[in-house]
Amino acid sequence: MAKKNDILTLEITDITPEGAGVGKADGGYVLFVPGTAPGDVIEAHVLKAEKSYGYAKAEKIISPSPFRVAQSCPVFPRCGGCLYRHIDYKKELDIKKNWVIQNFRRIGGFDINDIAIFSSGSPDGYRNKAQYPAEAVGGKLRFGFYSTHSHRVAPCRACALQPPFYADIVGAAEDFLNENHIEAYNEEDGTGTVRHLYIRHGAGSGEVMVSLIINADGLPHADGFVAAVRGACAGIVSVSLIVNKKRSNEILGDKCVTVYGKDHITDVLCGMKFDISPLSFYQVNHDGAELLYGLAKEQAALSGGETLLDLYCGAGTIGLSMANDAWRLIGVEIIPAAVDNAKENARNNGITNAEFICADAGEAAKKLADEGVTPDVIVLDPPRKGCGADVYAAVEKMMPTRLVMVSCNSATGARDAAEFGRLGYKLEYLAAVDLFPRTGHVETVARLSRSDINS
Ligand code: SAH
Repeated sequence: MAKKNDILTLEITDITPEGAGVGKADGGYVLFVPGTAPGDVIEAHVLKAEKSYGYAKAEKIISPSPFRVAQSCPVFPRCGGCLYRHIDYKKELDIKKNWVIQNFRRIGGFDINDIAIFSSGSPDGYRNKAQYPAEAVGGKLRFGFYSTHSHRVAPCRACALQPPFYADIVGAAEDFLNENHIEAYNEEDGTGTVRHLYIRHGAGSGEVMVSLIINADGLPHADGFVAAVRGACAGIVSVSLIVNKKRSNEILGDKCVTVYGKDHITDVLCGMKFDISPLSFYQVNHDGAELLYGLAKEQAALSGGETLLDLYCGAGTIGLSMANDAWRLIGVEIIPAAVDNAKENARNNGITNAEFICADAGEAAKKLADEGVTPDVIVLDPPRKGCGADVYAAVEKMMPTRLVMVSCNSATGARDAAEFGRLGYKLEYLAAVDLFPRTGHVETVARLSRSDINS
């Protein structure tokens, strides 16, 4: 047991998925210490003591973990985007792998002891998307990133996860908005104009998109804004304003007005060209996505005659990357702009066996099942909350041979896999792909097959 304000020597032996080091004080009392690494011996200051666990701050590192590395980000760990910047990347992969295994064991009830984890390349500069919240600091608009668990903006133009040219665009946008007295949105009272600056680029094509998310129907001097950001980055092919007047945490609105160039960027991924509009989901790590889709394709093991259902398909990228190996592809996605992209993407890549439905995945799957559509393979790539009961029910009715689950949250992925297990599916493959180095996220790919068909 420990008490508030105790100072004690603690060895950090583990780390949580939220990036807090874990150490045991006398009697096995567990203390969570942010910013530490497994192997550190620290002087811990207990800040909060609950009955069976507590939180502490590392006042001093008495002897550093062998996994510690030097890091130079000025806003780490304040910004909250990275959790593992101070830990050797190989160790980070190990931590993430174990965390996926533990989720599949504890939540899913699967008897798994080891899986492969694939790195997607450089742990820096890989992100092709950034959304910078705006805040007024001393009467000036500043872009940055939200600090952990808060809506305070940590000012930052150059994030190590993004390519360095993003900082030039942020700087130009900030300067232009300040010169023209265009104010940051204020969450407290709903006043001000600029909510977020949103940048995305196609790492395979070099095309760059800039959007400003505004609490207004238009931006004064929009032409000047376009000139300013284009002056900072030659690759910009699309500039848009996204209108979001909601008093909520939602970043994007649903109205997007193009003020320069195309209403999308085109990227090259898995040898195909994909149009991506600002409101469509697109994997944030280009090389990681190619790795992930390659694994998903292997696990789908299509041989030309199958009907493939791609649930939560976004701009159609996963399904389209496999469409030539299937007889028919049906994609389902809830965001209309993404479905428009998916249809266009099929056309632009000469794929004629694909159709896309704009609907909730569960509702569309139920409707397809009621119509007697029986996919051989279903790819499921849901958002973090995972699939719902209606998706399980539709799968039960359609009973495909194989399910390929792509999941950005191994906790809900493990839960969903267990639900499919109840329908008679067996988990035959599980691997992790680190699409999000340095952050507390990791992607997983799983294949489940119907045991009656296999046996
Ligand atoms: N497979 C795509 C997108 C994966 S992200 C890719 O790899 O790029 C998850 C997608 O699910 C997003 O495009 C999101 O808009 C969509 N989505 C979220 N909730 C949904 C729902 N209830 N029904 C259908 N699609 C949904």
